[in-house]
Amino acid sequence: MTDFLATGMLPDHYEQLAKTVRDFAQSVVAPVAAKHDAEHSFPYEVVAGMADMGLFGLPFPEEYGGMGGDYFALCLALEELGKVDQSVAITLEAGVSLGAMPVYRFGNEAQKQEWLPQLTSGRALAAFGLTEPGGGTDAGATKTTARLDDGHWVINGSKQFITNSGTGITKLVTVTAVTGETDGKKEISTILVPVPTPGFTAEPAYNKVGWNASDTHPLSFDDVRVPQENLLGERGRGYANFLRILDEGRIAIAALSVGAAQGCVDECVKYAKEREAFGRKIGENQAIAFKIARMEARAHTARTAYYDAAALMLSGKPFKKHAAIAKMVASEAAMDNARDATQVFGGYGFMNEFVVARHYRDSKILEIGEGTTEVQLMLIAREAGL
Ligand SMILES: Cc1cc2nc3c(=O)[nH]c(=O)nc-3n(C[C@H](O)[C@H](O)[C@H](O)COP(=O)(O)OP(=O)(O)OC[C@H]3O[C@@H](n4cnc5c(N)ncnc54)[C@H](O)[C@@H]3O)c2cc1C
Repeated sequence: MTDFLATGMLPDHYEQLAKTVRDFAQSVVAPVAAKHDAEHSFPYEVVAGMADMGLFGLPFPEEYGGMGGDYFALCLALEELGKVDQSVAITLEAGVSLGAMPVYRFGNEAQKQEWLPQLTSGRALAAFGLTEPGGGTDAGATKTTARLDDGHWVINGSKQFITNSGTGITKLVTVTAVTGETDGKKEISTILVPVPTPGFTAEPAYNKVGWNASDTHPLSFDDVRVPQENLLGERGRGYANFLRILDEGRIAIAALSVGAAQGCVDECVKYAKEREAFGRKIGENQAIAFKIARMEARAHTARTAYYDAAALMLSGKPFKKHAAIAKMVASEAAMDNARDATQVFGGYGFMNEFVVARHYRDSKILEIGEGTTEVQLMLIAREAGL
């Protein structure tokens, strides 16, 4: 799988997938992206289209309803979707990497059989509830609790900023909760909460700066009772398991970010060849051409970084540092390119119906979600021996 790193050429089946998703992104996603963004509406029809294409099942085995592909295939799809609509891309990323993947990685056979076919088909979504009002970076500071009572977990607490948690097709929320104490340290476990369950509420959606068509809610848990069997993975391993999920997720966010960075380049190249000022195309000015060249270099470098991290992950080698590097470099490339693209578009770049304006608002969260840039720097420094 990793041969293409040397040649820069993707094997045919990856090329084919990227082309199929690119066509879908252009013909189905792009035409409704500005409308969903303006209306802050969840794009059900687009999600159904992605489900029909099997995108929610890309990295899962066929026995669980998946497509039998791998994580790199998911990344390629995210890159293509990220070019035109980050809200749609993050809906897929969170649905697969944060929603279904914890069940696949840490679930027992009964849990996999119950949940994966629904989630990999894209007909149901799962959300990943780690962040709390008191903090996301310091995930160990979790305050939500779950205590055992008569064969049930009783969950109390709240979660914040949870993607895909309140859509009409959300069927599962996976939460971290304190289930006790070991050696004076909090024991954090992961519990599956089917939706609906009495006492569980997805509070009204946030009014965000960007990702307006992505579904994000605060969640509250008020004596939520779920069977003891809903523990996901080993008791007390919730924190460690979620860190593993976040390591992988960083490669996916990097791929989405590369899509955004490349989308900005593509839009600028077209615009710079059309828009005229002082009797010539603006792209004939080196100031504009060099700006776009720098954007292309950022997108290319970031793509190389996520390919590299994905190749390590798929070959079973340690990839934590490379995933952190990819996430940091790619999210910064997206933000920098979005700012430059807005400049190239002039006043039109500040108008919401233009893709670059959406990228300008959408890209900032790429430097925050699934580990802030500061978290990536901490990981890189630690891996470097500091
Ligand atoms: C749209 C959106 C969708 C999201 N989706 C999900 C989701 O599906 N599931 C989920 O669990 N979470 C989700 N999140 C939460 C996201 O992962 C957190 O916002 C992020 O991890 C940062 O946590 P925080 O907001 O609590 O910031 P804080 O942890 O309070 O950090 C604030 C600032 O301090 C910095 N900082 C903190 N500690 C240190 C340190 N030791 N050294 C240096 N700097 C530090 C941070 O980098 C940041 O700049 C989402 C957030 C948004 C906005």
